Amino acid sequence: MRFTLCIEDYLEQYIHNRDHGIPYCPICYEQVMTDNKSNNMTHLLSCYKTQVLELRLTDYYTNHGELPASVGDYVDDVLIDIEQELLRYCYKFESII
Ligand SMILES: [Zn+2]
Repeated sequence: MRFTLCIEDYLEQYIHNRDHGIPYCPICYEQVMTDNKSNNMTHLLSCYKTQVLELRLTDYYTNHGELPASVGDYVDDVLIDIEQELLRYCYKFESII
């Protein structure tokens, strides 16, 4: 069974991997990380969004026996939740500094 960590845990794992020269993405385990931090973060966030969407839609289907009537709206809501999670992470990080 797959489990999901929060974005903070994945970012910590990414930093650990980066510091130890491990090129694997902590979410999809593909060997895609390079020296380009911008590309790495784009990949990581894309993987995270995909994973959360997949799991939320699976949960919805399991609980309701069908997909949401408006998948587009449901996806938008999930993406807003992820943005909020990222914002909370940024604020938390800012307060540490
Ligand atoms: Zn990935």
